[in-house]
Amino acid sequence: MARPHSFDPTILREYDIRGVVGQTLHEDDARAVGASFGAVVAEAGGKRIAVGRDGRLSSPKLEAALLEGLTGAGIDVLRVGLGPTPMLYFAAYTLPVDGGIMVTGSHNPPDHNGFKLVLKKKSFFGADIQRLGQIAASGKFSVGQGKVEEKNILEAYVARLAQDYRGKRPLAVAWDAGNGAAGEAMKLLAARLPGRHILLNEVIDGRFPAHHPDPTEPKNMKQLQDAVLAQKCDLGIAFDGDGDRIGVVDGKGRILWGDQFMIVLAREIVAKQPGATIIADVKASQTLFDEIGRMGGKPLMWKTGHSLIKAKMAEMKAPLAGEMSGHIFYADGYYGYDDALYAAVRLLSILASGNESLADMRDRMPNVVNTPELRFPVAPERKFKSVEEVRERLKRAGAEVSEVDGVRVKNAEGWWLLRASNTQDVLVARVEAKDESALKRLKAELAAQLQQSGIAPPPGF
Ligand SMILES: [Zn+2]
Repeated sequence: MARPHSFDPTILREYDIRGVVGQTLHEDDARAVGASFGAVVAEAGGKRIAVGRDGRLSSPKLEAALLEGLTGAGIDVLRVGLGPTPMLYFAAYTLPVDGGIMVTGSHNPPDHNGFKLVLKKKSFFGADIQRLGQIAASGKFSVGQGKVEEKNILEAYVARLAQDYRGKRPLAVAWDAGNGAAGEAMKLLAARLPGRHILLNEVIDGRFPAHHPDPTEPKNMKQLQDAVLAQKCDLGIAFDGDGDRIGVVDGKGRILWGDQFMIVLAREIVAKQPGATIIADVKASQTLFDEIGRMGGKPLMWKTGHSLIKAKMAEMKAPLAGEMSGHIFYADGYYGYDDALYAAVRLLSILASGNESLADMRDRMPNVVNTPELRFPVAPERKFKSVEEVRERLKRAGAEVSEVDGVRVKNAEGWWLLRASNTQDVLVARVEAKDESALKRLKAELAAQLQQSGIAPPPGF
């Protein structure tokens, strides 16, 4: 019987389990994740789960230990092997299993790794993850002898993605997997689509030799931007380390952020389903919410965090949701989880069905100036409190405040956001305005609020 186990408290996070291999995350932890999740699955009446892994060098050993924990708890495992996180979700949503675990460090440095969990087609997060820690500490695991079965689902997954492609004219597309776990699926998908395809960094390599697989960092998009221009492509598509986030470059080599290409994705959905609810997170540009309304959809602003967005989406029966970070969720025609490869298929379908280029669509979007997402350190005990103080002061002053996640304050010139990160001891801010001078005024407003709460504003404020 397995013994009680205590995790390093930093690895049980809001949306996943994640740590630095050999420092905060060891094989013993993987075994305990398996044993405690196994207890949860059994308690929910389940017997069998799918397990997948990304291409990190530490993933095979962590997966092996995870399987020991699961099978020792009497859970049968369907091993789907190396691939992106959405491939594991695909298994968890379409095969006769009661959940799934993905061994992945997502877009984090090569020596990081962790687990994303699904129970009965729902994200397993927040208090659920904390509970795994309690079960492990109590040592009250279920005991049994589960079986391990191998099932390669890569081809079936790619076929499912390609099934929803509806293009009329061939496109030239540059793709960059950043040597992440989406590489092989990306290669197989591109081969199934018409047009000309330039593949970059499609070989899965956990050392990430070309650049880091995180498309939210402009420096990681440089190689793709160069390829789009040099090869005269219509667009470029990048994936993060585990393929649940997408990055997009237009034919002029410009990066489109999540809240920009969401306008393109939303337009197709609202045309088919007038009045459809489209969800975006609080970091997204006001432009996105305004445009969704203008096209006849119902914009809904929701909390940042892929697990929270997925849950809200199911509750509201929204056909599409997206985060500025590039997590895109399709329930229209798909399963409602974040799958960057599926989002790519839908974006390509839209572009290949019409005559307007992505660059022209970008040029037609309203012009606003905004900061990127700014993250700056805060003392842990002041993190939530300071945001509360700012909210109270603003409400007393009669400001227009959204309290969905932190504070998002809107006025005639633009808006600013201040929220506490769920995953790090940082505050997150973003400011957007109609022009540069308004941006300056809004930044000063935010800086003044931070100062009143004794917090140093981010650099440049
Ligand atoms: Zn990811």
